[in-house]
Amino acid sequence: MPNPKRRHSKKRGRLRRTFYKVHPVNLSKCPQCGKPRRSHRICIVCGYYKGKSRVVIATKEEKRKERERKNK
Ligand SMILES: [Zn+2]
Repeated sequence: MPNPKRRHSKKRGRLRRTFYKVHPVNLSKCPQCGKPRRSHRICIVCGYYKGKSRVVIATKEEKRKERERKNK
């Protein structure tokens, strides 16, 4: 197993860690409804992915209808 020959300084480690950074969430427009959506994720507003296939998740609209049906 390769092993480090000697321990490096606190400065070196800390300097490396200065490049660690939190990135903001990458938002792009949904081609279906135009609402902002995370890339490579299903749109939570209309439930579409890649513009064509209908993925089986409940959208906000459907959840609201479901709630109304239960209340009646
Ligand atoms: Zn959408």
